Amino acid sequence: MAQCTQVKPDLDFVREIQAAGGQSLKTCYQCATCAVVCPISPANNPYPRKEMVWASWGLKDKLMNDVDLWLCHNCGNCAELCPRGARPADVMAAARNMVYKDLTSPSIIGKWMSSIKGLPFLIAIPALIWFFVWAVRSGIKGSWFPRAADGRIVFGEIFYGDYTIDPIFIVTFFGAAYILYRGTMKLLERFRPEGTILMLGNVKPWYMHLWDVLVQEIVTHKKFQDCGTDKADRRLGHMAVFYSFAILAVVTAIVAGGHWIGKVIPAVAVHTPMPLTFPVKILANIGAVALFVGLTLMTMRRLKLDPKFQLSSFYDWYLLGVIWVVAVTGMLAQIFRLMDCVTWAFSVYYLHLVAVWMLFAYLPWSKLGHFVYRVAALTYVRTIGRR
Ligand code: SF4
Ligand code: SF4
Repeated sequence: MAQCTQVKPDLDFVREIQAAGGQSLKTCYQCATCAVVCPISPANNPYPRKEMVWASWGLKDKLMNDVDLWLCHNCGNCAELCPRGARPADVMAAARNMVYKDLTSPSIIGKWMSSIKGLPFLIAIPALIWFFVWAVRSGIKGSWFPRAADGRIVFGEIFYGDYTIDPIFIVTFFGAAYILYRGTMKLLERFRPEGTILMLGNVKPWYMHLWDVLVQEIVTHKKFQDCGTDKADRRLGHMAVFYSFAILAVVTAIVAGGHWIGKVIPAVAVHTPMPLTFPVKILANIGAVALFVGLTLMTMRRLKLDPKFQLSSFYDWYLLGVIWVVAVTGMLAQIFRLMDCVTWAFSVYYLHLVAVWMLFAYLPWSKLGHFVYRVAALTYVRTIGRR
């Protein structure tokens, strides 16, 4: 006798995924064109058609535990050829957004991050933290815009590194890293099927696969290349932002290391503000230029998206917006300092600190977290013998 499988659709989940950016999913008639044309989907386990079916039927567990969500690079090729305008790339992105929302705690941040209504709360937290620092320090210094003894504008007069910026960002960075680690472990747990996977032959340990992913895919952004030559600006934009972050991370490490180690070994001390001709400052400005180039390419691409095929969600604009504010305020703070405009310099620097804090503190709930989650997913599929 034929066996009957009962499917229990979660209609609330269908509504949630539609609200998160997958409005068009119900127009899909499951022709599978999307899975055929996806340039990076493997032949033996194609996507995104199956995800369209799960989303449409409200199969929440299936979709939320799906490793393939994280392998999709959101190129939009599938959406351009979908005969029904079901926008499968947006549905994949909406499903990822829903995973961000409940993967890490406190979940209230994920809720705020999911719509523009939460933005004031997200801004208010760092705005209050840095305003408190400014108010306390200005009370000590006797001015909201104090100058150094030699008359220069030195941001450390208010936002003193040792007691304000360093401890606040160290706690923020390690706190976000811990939350991200917990989220990644939870995500990997979701991917694991019931039972045991039997691997035959030479089995590489996971960290060797991780190394391969970093070298073969992340450093080169190879999958973006596989998405087609007509998407070359997308790859270039992502690479420019990726490498600018890497350069700015190196600069931050040198400045922080030089500051703290310099207290013990004065020969390696790095003092801020650095002169424009100082090599570390030159490196920082190269990173800033790369960031502007990458942001411009990514923003232009988003603005040029044809809404018939792909839309941008609040998650997309939130991340781009925060990085733009970081870049513009960082550059303007430097310009106002060099122009000796003390009020503008401190005010813009305050906004810069607010934006940088938002970038790092909310990383596990933002699209920036996808970088880590995607690396975890790519590593996972390699460890189970898939590509
Ligand atoms: S999303 Fe479009 S291309 Fe994919 S199965 Fe549905 S109708 Fe076909
Ligand atoms: S957006 Fe691109 S990578 Fe993602 S499923 Fe569609 S074609 Fe594949």
